[in-house]
Amino acid sequence: MADAKLMEKLVSLCKRRGFIFPSSEIYGGLGGFWDYGPLGVALKKNIKDAWWQDMVIDPPDGPDGRQVEMVGLDCTIIMNPNVWKASGHVGGFSDPMVDCRTEGCKSRIRADQIDQTPCPLKPSKCAGQFEKCDLTEPREFNLMFQTYVGALQDASAVAYLRPETAQGIFANFKNVLDTSRVKLPFGIAQVGKSFRNEINPRNFTFRSREFEQMEIEFFCDDASAMDWYRFWRDTRYNWYVRHGLKSDKLQLRDQTEDERAHYAQACADIEYLFPFSEEMQELEGVAHRGCYDLGKHQEHSGKDLTYFDDDRWQADAAQYKGDKDAAKKAKENPPYRFLPTVIEPSAGADRATLAFLCEAYCEDQAPDDKGNMQTRVLMKFHPRLAPIKAAVFPLMSKGEMPEMAGRLYRQLKHRFNVAYDDKGAIGRRYRRQDEIGTPYCVTIDGDSLEQGTVTIRDRDTLEQVRVQADDVAAWLDERVR
Ligand code: ATP
Repeated sequence: MADAKLMEKLVSLCKRRGFIFPSSEIYGGLGGFWDYGPLGVALKKNIKDAWWQDMVIDPPDGPDGRQVEMVGLDCTIIMNPNVWKASGHVGGFSDPMVDCRTEGCKSRIRADQIDQTPCPLKPSKCAGQFEKCDLTEPREFNLMFQTYVGALQDASAVAYLRPETAQGIFANFKNVLDTSRVKLPFGIAQVGKSFRNEINPRNFTFRSREFEQMEIEFFCDDASAMDWYRFWRDTRYNWYVRHGLKSDKLQLRDQTEDERAHYAQACADIEYLFPFSEEMQELEGVAHRGCYDLGKHQEHSGKDLTYFDDDRWQADAAQYKGDKDAAKKAKENPPYRFLPTVIEPSAGADRATLAFLCEAYCEDQAPDDKGNMQTRVLMKFHPRLAPIKAAVFPLMSKGEMPEMAGRLYRQLKHRFNVAYDDKGAIGRRYRRQDEIGTPYCVTIDGDSLEQGTVTIRDRDTLEQVRVQADDVAAWLDERVR
């Protein structure tokens, strides 16, 4: 069930503690644009870093039993506009929209979401259901932001802010192939900003107009493509589970044939039950795109984007010995030369961040400084994703404890994002860290000065262990990586 209250609490916590702010808020903000504050930027960076580490630097073994081969890329946001003509975005990246002609409303709504969009004049009803609503027929609205490159602002200077990072990867396929000695099957990954002029940005950061994507284009031969599709679908689903999204709120849903793009041979959505909705919503799509994209770019650019399978040719070349014409012809055709098939796991960094924020929010009862049970708000982030890994507290703010705490803090800070807090009662300090999801609080007390040990308190279980101060870094390392 949708939980508007929970969503309200979360948005308020994000604002209060510096995770996410409305963009340019001092000027009234701008719909669909959000800024990440000190904790938000740390959380989102940890998510992107975890993705990069697990998908690019140290990916799992593929269905062929070998570690998946991956390389990275960072393309520009503005590209030659022909990229978007070839990909079909100039002609077809649109949503149907309707306008309300009613005086005082003049709203613009996505036609396919009318029954989920409240009427601005009467929010208790959906758009179109209030007697004053006067809606136009649906019209197509292109979601790409346009700009001009250079001094002239005419049609020849029109360019677009990329609506996805994927096309930059296809446009560079040949460059990567020619320069990095990769062989099929391999993937190219990119993390970066994308822009869509969404008609109804809403649900906090879920549907923004500027957002970040984490995309992989994985190139393989057609015969193994279905195996790779299943591999990526499962790998990506398990990645979210491993980082704390619970299986009752997360689902892997195969799209029906009607839902899929005409060129896609299979497509699955990884969906999450956000508190703002009754229905599961897309977090990430994994699509088997055939050779559609490379085919389109080959056609529009006039450049050869095929792959030559030299290993296979070397193995078979003997068959063509003595017949140069047959060898030449064979080399130009499958199974030696062909357009690779593409599997695309396409995730949104902001949506993932929002899902981890929603999943982490929790309230329980815990004793305060006087032993009375109080409601406590905590963010149960996976330690690897938590913005701050540990907080260091001297029990007393005077005497030798702050000195020892300061030393430990500086030692930890070389390796982890840690906080130092000596203000107020210890219980209050714990609460402040619980609310921002810090998994461990390290306290320096009287025994620390005598024995060189500290207590480490676990955010979720409230259990405390005593550890030698010199061992804290290794103790943390084991848990937050
Ligand atoms: P939706 O149906 O929600 O508009 P989509 O199917 O158009 O999404 P894709 O084009 O497949 O999305 O983009 C891949 C991923 O990028 C999505 O799964 C999502 O995580 C993210 N994404 C897409 N649009 C937005 C947006 N407006 N705001 C935030 N993230 C987005």
